[in-house]
Amino acid sequence: MIPVQGFSGRTIAVLGLGRSGLAAVVALQAGGADVVVWDDAPDAATKANDAGARLIDLTKQGAFKNIASLITSPGIPHLYPSPHPAVSRAMAEGCPVDNDIGLFFRSFATSEWDEFDSIPKVIAVTGSNGKSTTSALIHHILEHTGRPTQLGGNIGRGVLDLDEAQDGEVIVLELSSYQIDLARALTPDVAVFTNLSSDHLDRHAGLGGYFAAKRRLFAEGGPDRAVIGVNEMEGRYIANQLSEGPSDDRVIRVSSVQKIDDIGWAVFARKGFLSEYRKGRQVGSIDLRSIAGLPGVHNHQNACSAYAACRALGIGPRVIEAALISFKGLPHRSQLIAEKDGVRYVNDSKATNIDAASKALAAFKKVRWICGGLEKDGGLEALLPAPTVVKAYVIGRESVAFAMKLKGLNVEVCGDMATAVAKASAEAEAGDTVLLAPAAASFDQYDNFELRGNDFAACVLGLMG
Ligand code: ADP
Repeated sequence: MIPVQGFSGRTIAVLGLGRSGLAAVVALQAGGADVVVWDDAPDAATKANDAGARLIDLTKQGAFKNIASLITSPGIPHLYPSPHPAVSRAMAEGCPVDNDIGLFFRSFATSEWDEFDSIPKVIAVTGSNGKSTTSALIHHILEHTGRPTQLGGNIGRGVLDLDEAQDGEVIVLELSSYQIDLARALTPDVAVFTNLSSDHLDRHAGLGGYFAAKRRLFAEGGPDRAVIGVNEMEGRYIANQLSEGPSDDRVIRVSSVQKIDDIGWAVFARKGFLSEYRKGRQVGSIDLRSIAGLPGVHNHQNACSAYAACRALGIGPRVIEAALISFKGLPHRSQLIAEKDGVRYVNDSKATNIDAASKALAAFKKVRWICGGLEKDGGLEALLPAPTVVKAYVIGRESVAFAMKLKGLNVEVCGDMATAVAKASAEAEAGDTVLLAPAAASFDQYDNFELRGNDFAACVLGLMG
């Protein structure tokens, strides 16, 4: 755990007693703060008591009179569609609002570092898709080199739950737009932007607000090196803003669609080959095609981003290549569950938005596609004509309406996972891939995407006998 610095003897309020809120309480108390908490849930009093913090109603007038800062959780709206009443109250009463990421960055460096040979570093990864895979991949490469490293943030352990950094350690953080938007301190050494597509528009009042939140990591974070995915205009915009000109190699441009061999420092993937160019000369090349843990062009983009972040730390291309080959992939992202009679069963339950689903569909040749759930912004039309899809099997409470939007595809309304898996499996031929890539959130039928993916895996394994 990382004790929070700078609040000893002062009162700090924590809103929301979920995973990150509870970790913040412990870390603040360890730093000597007096912590008060508030949560709307009925079991808040018990949780507060267990955490050894006083429960006070932060929505009441005057609640923030003696409070130095309000720490909120990423799941709680702080601006759009409308702020939580406690956040509104803090803002009205002039109390600074922050989150665990801000606390982490203000507390990460300690006086012990004076004795270290090599100062610890932070690599922060953001973007619409591929954050978890890229962060896990960077962490995996660092482990492979034998460097001390920890992975946290939006994946694995919460930031304040991490251990205090050792000599030479590299902390890899996955950061969501919600987490970046509020953090009052953001000082990564290397920051990575994977890509941008529509998501979470309600929480950011549209694409512009969503992009602005992610951009903070670069504009306000001032990283020494920025790894920027430039497939979209927004990435090109950030790269342009951060660099002084074509020879400025503080920015490493990454692409999975375009060759970049004439500008600064770049890493790109084409036809399954990763290439690194610096100052107009090729300095690295890796064949990604046979790496089982990284299927599809989208994973080649992740491999390029992770490669670039590690190159920014001075790790050699051959060392990175060996680590990429041994990467197993993450559960619920292009995860191979089983293979029988030439049919592969792949779990990509994390494909909750349109861009992720379209990338998953493009990664396989003949797809029996299990999709559906709670539809997000973006419109399913963007997935069509979906040339790799042989047939779609639709699940979810609104499966009939969802199926009707998949115009031009061979579609069957299945309703639930067991029916969809059974039908897809019965109709699949050798060479087909039965792919769960829902293009929708899971909350209509499951508590989260992990449970949806687990259900898919259980149904598949049930059929294998
Ligand atoms: P995030 O943490 O940003 O949600 P993940 O690595 O968990 O990213 O992947 C989320 C979903 O997006 C998965 O369905 C995965 O297959 C898909 N995906 C992974 N990398 C990319 C990428 N670079 N571009 C588009 N989709 C991707």
